[in-house]
Amino acid sequence: KAYLERIKEVEPQVDALISITEEYALKKAEEADKMIQDGNINDLTGIPVIIKDNMCTENIRTTCASKMLEDFVPPYNATVVENLSNLGAVMVGKANLDEFAMGSSTENSAFKTTKNPWDLSRVPGGSSGGSAASVAADECAFSLGSDTGGSIRQPASLCGVVGMKPTYGLVSRYGLVAFASSLDQIGPLTKDVTDCAIVLNAIAGHDPKDSTSVDKMRKKDYKEFLKEDIKGIRIGYAKEFFGEGLDDGVRESIESSLKIFESLGAEIKEISLPYLDYALAAYYIVSSAEASSNLARYDGIRYGHVATNYEDLIDMYMVSRSEGFGKEVKRRIMLGTYALSSGYYDAYYNKALKVRTLIKKDYEKAFEDVDVIVGPTSPTTAFKIGERVEDPLAMYLADVYTVPVNIAGLPGLSLPCGLSNDLPVGLQIVGRHFDEGIVLNAAYAFE
Ligand code: GLN
Repeated sequence: KAYLERIKEVEPQVDALISITEEYALKKAEEADKMIQDGNINDLTGIPVIIKDNMCTENIRTTCASKMLEDFVPPYNATVVENLSNLGAVMVGKANLDEFAMGSSTENSAFKTTKNPWDLSRVPGGSSGGSAASVAADECAFSLGSDTGGSIRQPASLCGVVGMKPTYGLVSRYGLVAFASSLDQIGPLTKDVTDCAIVLNAIAGHDPKDSTSVDKMRKKDYKEFLKEDIKGIRIGYAKEFFGEGLDDGVRESIESSLKIFESLGAEIKEISLPYLDYALAAYYIVSSAEASSNLARYDGIRYGHVATNYEDLIDMYMVSRSEGFGKEVKRRIMLGTYALSSGYYDAYYNKALKVRTLIKKDYEKAFEDVDVIVGPTSPTTAFKIGERVEDPLAMYLADVYTVPVNIAGLPGLSLPCGLSNDLPVGLQIVGRHFDEGIVLNAAYAFE
């Protein structure tokens, strides 16, 4: 009830939510009370959570911040939602996002722009901007976001909270509305690293309903990695991180963070990721190609927006899609369709896949010498609302440090590491595949 009160108080300023699920939350909280009375209690019993509105919630509207799905009510829960629900977590709302998770500021939402709680004239980042802002504004104890190219870590950085994208395959994508299936991954946004480990415990694990979910992993307790001691851990920083476009204030925070790691006993090493420069280009080809295919299902027949005025079947598809999708989504569909078309497939899509392999190899090589790689999450702090809407390329640059991590499928965590002009700066820690433990260990010691 206290969180629902808080939502009513701050939501008019922050606009983090597409739905407030009050009735559901009160019912769920009663169930949690009952669980506690029965002695059936765990870390998440009764804990209020907000879910990004691209994860399916049974009988609760799931819009992807798109007119296309404005009235879509899924008949089932995403696996992560089901997991949290079984533990007694209480969903209090569904968070705003960039339409279909395409964007870095929530300005591509068809419904509203979320404001950064640190400065309401600035963006919270995106696409999980509503999820990050809702944690920063205390509308929930934690939230879930999805990250295809940085959409958990970049908003976490801009809103001063902890956000983690797990290794591709660790968390089930079942019930997450697909953007780019080979890159999408769900993860927690939390107040601190301990909460991050708790939420990861709840959502990680094999799911037969997601064919890319990994099943040979032994289930880990991520809380066991929350140790102050990082003596001897080898931390790499890539010289390529400190190039053009990085704000001075962000650079200073990252440099002093490296010194803190050193004073904690870690060994700091310079590494090189030579193909980093090509990551954004490869990402926008691969993700748009996959998006153009995934979004083909919105044809006005199976579900979603249906046009009322049309001439024949083809026209119905066209008018439904023209009306239902926003500008950025259309831009990606066109880009992706072009990259996949015969004649251009080899020049764009296949080439991007080759670059993807080179970037993976860069990381494999780097991880021969270091245990984690540390650097900035985002090149700048939160920018002003409206500042980049007319310039998609400037917007895409917000993800320069996060997309390579998705391309390689690695785990990455962003945690607050200081302020620049009174705005939070995020530090990104990246680990080897399924090495979330050491990432959490480094983050916990730093925090
Ligand atoms: N900002 C990136 C994009 O627009 C990443 C989005 C995401 O991770 N969902 O594609």
